[in-house]
Amino acid sequence: MIDFALEAEHLMVEKLVRDWAGQKIAPRIQELDRAAHFDRSILAEMAELGLLGLCIPESYGGAGMDYISLGLACEELEYVDTFLRVILSVHVGLNSMTMMAWATEEQKQHYLVPQARGTKLATYALTEPNAGSDAVGIQATARRDGTDYLLNGEKMWISLADVADHFITFAWTDQEKRAARDHAGITGFILERGMPGLTTGTIHGKLGIRAGNTGFLSFNDVRVPAGNVLGEPGEGFKIAMFALDQGRYTVAAGATGLVRACLDASVKYARERHSFGQPIGQHQLVKELIADMSRNYEASRLLYQRAGWMKNQGLRNTRETAVAKWYACDASEKAAADAVEVHGAYGYSDEYPVERFYRNCKAAVIYEGSREIQKLIAADYALGYRVDRPMRAGLPSYPFSG
Ligand SMILES: Cc1cc2nc3c(=O)[nH]c(=O)nc-3n(C[C@H](O)[C@H](O)[C@H](O)COP(=O)(O)OP(=O)(O)OC[C@H]3O[C@@H](n4cnc5c(N)ncnc54)[C@H](O)[C@@H]3O)c2cc1C
Repeated sequence: MIDFALEAEHLMVEKLVRDWAGQKIAPRIQELDRAAHFDRSILAEMAELGLLGLCIPESYGGAGMDYISLGLACEELEYVDTFLRVILSVHVGLNSMTMMAWATEEQKQHYLVPQARGTKLATYALTEPNAGSDAVGIQATARRDGTDYLLNGEKMWISLADVADHFITFAWTDQEKRAARDHAGITGFILERGMPGLTTGTIHGKLGIRAGNTGFLSFNDVRVPAGNVLGEPGEGFKIAMFALDQGRYTVAAGATGLVRACLDASVKYARERHSFGQPIGQHQLVKELIADMSRNYEASRLLYQRAGWMKNQGLRNTRETAVAKWYACDASEKAAADAVEVHGAYGYSDEYPVERFYRNCKAAVIYEGSREIQKLIAADYALGYRVDRPMRAGLPSYPFSG
């Protein structure tokens, strides 16, 4: 039987996040965005609400909620501003959920538990100055030195790079495989701030997500104990792709929230603003813009919730998550552009939030696999060029055991 109804726990999370973000962040967001300032104190509030370990089992310090709850939280966060959802995308989606699946028990106790409790902030660093979509094109290397690895290279465009405490990153450990572009030569590592040779910085002058932090990492002979290898040596590429299945899900849900934010702002304005003797909402061409936002919101929400349901069931969802991310990001880009038009000249100033939505939406079309990459994934599944192979590790299905 198909059941589209949300459960009481989902409605509770939705309301909790909506109330918090609406009351605590929305009144300050214009100021935070203008200042291009990441306010770290917000993290403590998110930790207090349990958001930083939302779908991590309670036995690892999390709130023990399901994956649909994670999507709902992301939708509500991005309804207010993209930077809030990005925190969940990297800290929970790309990092903690990946740790949950691939880390050893010792690594989970040391890294995941404080992350889930919100006392440590985590992110994910795959992209480099010369390699984004082409993850096999990364140049970072990790050379074995006794019981350690010496890590060298650069990571670029990393969300929360300059504020996070923990990082999952990727480097070549097998130079022969690197020369052959065989991804089995890439290994995943867990790093922590303070390791000698690890430095970070902030990228300034971004188009959007200005209240958030985006930056770079530099590895200069960073000595990483072999105990900080995530998964087995050579599993890094698979782990990086697994992480994207989780991160993309949060991006899809967040973009859905951005569509709804554009819809609500446009409806309000269209009812208030008059032209030719009537509210602009009465003009059919304005109605068309509103109708598109309304339809695209519902379709985006259904797509991400299907992916969340599959995660709950423990089903592989790479294809469904990619489609949800692609669809919702397209929808949010169109909704933001149309919302600016509905607002006319006022939409072109930061007096109204739609200008910020328009600047913020573009990054999601690029990160966690660009629009083109999602299209390739969808096409390759359809054509049979891509098939899911069993993974050695996976997310725990919901309800969590133990
Ligand atoms: C605000 C922001 C935050 C980010 N946060 C993170 C983060 O936390 N961690 C992280 O690791 N990365 C992060 N990124 C990086 C992001 O994931 C990459 O920018 C993205 O993967 C694209 O890589 P690229 O920028 O190198 O573009 P490129 O890979 O150089 O692509 C350029 C263009 O070519 C297209 N293209 C490339 N290959 C193909 C192909 N085979 N077929 C068709 N078209 C193709 C792309 O779609 C794109 O339009 C972030 C980026 C931004 C903007």
